[in-house]
Formats: sequence, C-alpha cells, structure tokens
Amino acid sequence: MGQVTIWNEFRHERENPAVRQLYPDGMHAVLAAALRRGGISNLRTATLDEPAQGLPAAVLNATDVLIWWGHRHHGEVADDLAAAVHARILAGMGFICLHSGHFSKIFKKLMGTPCTVNWRADGELERVWLVAPGHPIAAGVPNYFELPKEEMYGEPFEVPPPEELVFISWFKGGEVFRSGGCYRRGRGRIFYFRPGHETFPTYHDANVQRVIVNAVRWAMPDAVTPRAFANERKDPIEAI
Ligand code: ZN
Repeated sequence: MGQVTIWNEFRHERENPAVRQLYPDGMHAVLAAALRRGGISNLRTATLDEPAQGLPAAVLNATDVLIWWGHRHHGEVADDLAAAVHARILAGMGFICLHSGHFSKIFKKLMGTPCTVNWRADGELERVWLVAPGHPIAAGVPNYFELPKEEMYGEPFEVPPPEELVFISWFKGGEVFRSGGCYRRGRGRIFYFRPGHETFPTYHDANVQRVIVNAVRWAMPDAVTPRAFANERKDPIEAI
C-alpha cells in the first residue's frame, strides 16, 4: 500500500484546553493510531506549523493519499502549496477532506463552488445514515450510527452533486446534510467526510475511524503519474 499523509492544522489542540484534553497529541495522532489499527502502517503526519507547512515537495510527492483537517487558518496555507496539492490530486493522489476542510483552499479549488454550509456548534446528536450499502467506504458500517455531540452542518452544502453519496446526516435540531460524498478530479479520488468538530470526541468513535480507514483504501491509487496529461496530435493507427 502507498504512503498516507495526515495533515492537520494543529492549532486548536494547542490553544484550547478543552480540545487538548480530547486530543493531547493532536487529532492527527488519533487518526494515525486508528489507521495503524486498521492495517495502514505506511503513514506520516504533517502540521501547518512545520517547515514548508508540513508538506515539502519531497513529502507531497511521496504521498499517495492525503487526509486534510483544517479550520480557522485555511488562509495561511500557501497558494503555491494548495496548487501543488491540487496538481498531485489530478495526477492520481487520493484526497480525504474532513469536516471544516470543506472550506480549505484545496477543496474549494477541487469543487469550483463556494462550499458553504449552515452550521451550529452547540453539541447535539448527529445520526449518520448509510445511503450506499455495499460501497467500499461503508464496509462494516451499520445502517446508521450516532455521535451524541457534534456540530451541526446543514444544507444547502454548496458543492457539485457528489458522484457517489455514501452518507447523509440528520441532526437533533432538524437539519440534514450530505455527509459523505465521493468525487473524481483528473485521476484522483476524493472523499469528503463531515464529522469531526474539534471540541467533540468524534475521531475516537469506532465507526468514524472505520469510515476513514475504508476511505483511505478506496482512494489509494495504483500509481500517481504527474506528467500523464498529454494533449497532442496523433497520427492514426490505421490508414484513414
Ligand atoms: Zn467544526
């Protein structure tokens, strides 16, 4: 299996004691442990405050699936880095966008739409419904599972219709949301997965972890081929 990189903004955990209590070593550390338990061991983590914002070319160019969690500091991610990540996705790298990553430079560039949501971070029940039984990202996931306290994201979610919709969420307050959607851009497979507000223990949840492990396997390319986009005149194979 190829290389997985988990990128995390990693500021809330250091600045907010309530978040630090849930994720003392960062959300990326909890996700990395979950992936290892799920049999995915070829992985590394990267954070915004590391050199080259965690993704120097040598790391990005060795990454086959990139997981992304960002929130308050999307604007600090360098335009050059967002462009390089975008180019690598087009060349085949898988991309798993978590929760507030919906508003990251990279996800917005991939979608080409505003990617806005309605939201309310009051901590309410989220019921995540599986709407694509048999989909590889849903392997081993029950018909629905519940997260007792989550932030609400409500429709309309201003994204293109997902090519495959795997999950829909219902919230105690009454809203619904397309929580798990698959896209392809170029050769890359993209999965957006909604749960994961930083002040709730969502990434400790077994079903959430299972979905992310499944999504990594689904998004893993056979190869990432950066120079494969020829657009050139060809002579016919047969006489015409
Ligand atoms: Zn949030």
